[in-house]
Amino acid sequence: MQRVERLELTTNFPIGPVYSYVVFGEKLTLIDAGLKNKQGWDELNKGLHLLGLGLTDIEQIVITHHHNDHTGMVDWILEKNPSVSIYAHKDTEMILKDESYLAWSSEFFERLFLEFGLTKELAIKWAYRKGHRDYFQLATVDEVLQDGDSVPGLPGWKVIETLGHSQDHISLYCGDTQQFICGDNIIKGVHGGIFLDAPKQGEERAKPLLQYLNNLEICRKLPAKVTYSGHGPIIDNLNGAIDGHINNIENRANRVINTLKKLDNSATGLEIIQDMYRGRYEKAVITFVFEIVSVLDMLQERNIVFAEKLNGVYQYRLINGD
Ligand SMILES: [Zn+2]
Ligand SMILES: [Zn+2]
Repeated sequence: MQRVERLELTTNFPIGPVYSYVVFGEKLTLIDAGLKNKQGWDELNKGLHLLGLGLTDIEQIVITHHHNDHTGMVDWILEKNPSVSIYAHKDTEMILKDESYLAWSSEFFERLFLEFGLTKELAIKWAYRKGHRDYFQLATVDEVLQDGDSVPGLPGWKVIETLGHSQDHISLYCGDTQQFICGDNIIKGVHGGIFLDAPKQGEERAKPLLQYLNNLEICRKLPAKVTYSGHGPIIDNLNGAIDGHINNIENRANRVINTLKKLDNSATGLEIIQDMYRGRYEKAVITFVFEIVSVLDMLQERNIVFAEKLNGVYQYRLINGD
C-alpha cells in the first residue's frame, strides 16, 4: 500500500468535517486543502506535526474540485511555502478566479433561477452568492490534470475525471495498490450533492446528474480496496457506497414524480421544492434548486417529464400523467 494519511479539518457545514490526505509518494503530496478558518488551519498544522511534517515539507497539492471546503487554505499554505506546485482539473482555475467567467456565471444563474420560478430578488441574491469567490486569490494552478493522466510525483496514480458533483471534479486511483481518492464524488452514507456550475460562455450547461450516474458506473469497475472521501468514513466497500447513491437518486426521482402528480401534473421547479422541502429550503435555496433541476434533467432524458416555458418560467409535466 502507498502510505496515505487522513487529516480531519473543521467546517461549519452540516456535512461535518472535510478530509485532506497526505500521500507519501515520490513527492509529498497534499490532496485538498480544507475550508479557510482558524480552527481548520490549526488542525492542518497539528495533523502534519503528528506525522512529523510541517507546511514546508509539502511539495505539491492536488485539488479534487473547486469547492471552498477543498481549496480554502491553499492561499495560506502558499504564503508559508511558495514553492508548492498546484495541480487541478483544467477548469478549476477558471471557475475560481476568471473574472469574465464569474460575471457570466452570475448572469447564467440569475436566468436559471428565474426559469425555475424564483422571484427576481431571490434570483439576483443567490446568483451573486454563487458567483462570489474569495478563497483563491494568491494561488494559480501550475499544471492541469486530465482524465487518464499520470499524477506528477505520484508514480502509479492516475487521474479519473469524475464530473457531476462539480464540473471540475477529478479523482485519483492507484492500480498497483488499489487505493482510490475520490473527493466528494462518493461519500458513504451521505448524499454528497449535485451542484451546477455555469458552462463556458456560449456553451450549453451540463446535465450533472447524468454525468454523475455515468461516472459512478466507471468507478464501480475499479477494484478499489480502500476509498478515501472528502467527507464521511473511509470506504472499504466501494460498490456498496455507489449503490447507496443510486438508491438515493432513484428515491428522489420518485418523490419528484409523486409531487408532480400531487400538484395536478403541472408545476414550476420552485413549486416542486416548496412541496418537497417545505420549511427547509429557504435557508439554502440553491442546494435544493440544483438537486431538483438535476433530477428533472434525468426525468426529461428518460422521457418521463417534459418542460414548457411559460412567461420565462419552466412548467414541468409528466408525459403520462393523466
Ligand atoms: Zn464539493
Ligand atoms: Zn466537500
